[in-house]
Amino acid sequence: MESLKLIRTLISANNKFISEWKRLKRPVLGYTCSYTPEEIISAGEILPIRILGSLEPPKLADVHVSTNVCSFAKSCFNNALKGEYSSLDGYVFSHSCDNQKKIYDLWRRYTTIPKAYFINTPHSTNENSRRFFRDELEKFREWLMKSFKVEISEENLRSTIRTFNENRRLLRQVYDLRKGNPPLVLGSEALEIVLSSMMTPKEEHNKLLQVLLEEIDTREDVPKEGVRLLVSGSIMDNSELLRLIESVGGSVVADDLCTGSRYFWDLVNEEEEPMTAITERYLHKIPSSFMYSSEERFRHTREMAKLFDVEGVLIFSLKFCDVHSFDAPLLAEELREEDGLPVLCLEWDHSLSGTAQLRTRIEAFIEMLEEQI
Ligand code: SF4
Repeated sequence: MESLKLIRTLISANNKFISEWKRLKRPVLGYTCSYTPEEIISAGEILPIRILGSLEPPKLADVHVSTNVCSFAKSCFNNALKGEYSSLDGYVFSHSCDNQKKIYDLWRRYTTIPKAYFINTPHSTNENSRRFFRDELEKFREWLMKSFKVEISEENLRSTIRTFNENRRLLRQVYDLRKGNPPLVLGSEALEIVLSSMMTPKEEHNKLLQVLLEEIDTREDVPKEGVRLLVSGSIMDNSELLRLIESVGGSVVADDLCTGSRYFWDLVNEEEEPMTAITERYLHKIPSSFMYSSEERFRHTREMAKLFDVEGVLIFSLKFCDVHSFDAPLLAEELREEDGLPVLCLEWDHSLSGTAQLRTRIEAFIEMLEEQI
């Protein structure tokens, strides 16, 4: 499908939409966490793009960072040191996990990207956190206006919220195509579609999704049936692991990933005052594993498993991702005991090395499920 081919080319900091944005001398701001309120950035005509890593060894970052740092955070830093993000006008980090918080200092010291900001995202959702986060987001809005000499008005925020919500609704429609058997969209394709949304002006991405949804109806290369799986865990910023699962008979029909469903599942309330609505949405969205408490996230994972009728769950923890490594056994226990779902917990290190071993374990898990079904 032509739309899918185009979407794949967009998962890059130099894609055609970003280049055009830069050509028009409009600012681009990188961000590192799904808790970054992109609507506020976008309302100032600044393009927010997600900072991603790569699967190559992080040789430049290894000079500055010890071996027991999250391999994803390190890989993003490596890409920055390589100059992949040199065209950014700035970047924003969010206080998510400790790895992200500390690597922000290294970005400021060793990269030459001119502007940097840190949002102190709370880790709980009580009334004090809500007030605190609202103030933090207001400070962020002021920083954006001052640093980039732009206006972020209530009217612009309202219009941006509508565009972002439209994107979220369209992404949900794409996910709905995975409920059938066989699913009409592969898990690897769905991940690429969500990743491309983070790297493209939302108006353009909405148009692309509309074309994609039309093309799907006449799709000739419909994916094969396979063992229906949900994938949960640390970030996935490329589709390699999902392709590996698909190559051994798995059909990834649902996810609990910050680059998947957790990115777009919740809408911003369009009736409320915009900054309050944005605060509420990001504070109460499906939580990431750094948030208190895990139960809310597990509830979402279990709901997704039911909604997409999955037959097994794969939990991937990135090496040295503490927050997911703590959560994984608890989540696995809940899925096995409460829902009777078979679960395989795996660790990987954001590189291609070790994928042969992963492949063997995933293949054995899928064979076991095929015998049970
Ligand atoms: S993968 Fe885990 S440790 Fe790494 S940045 Fe994400 S939450 Fe933090």
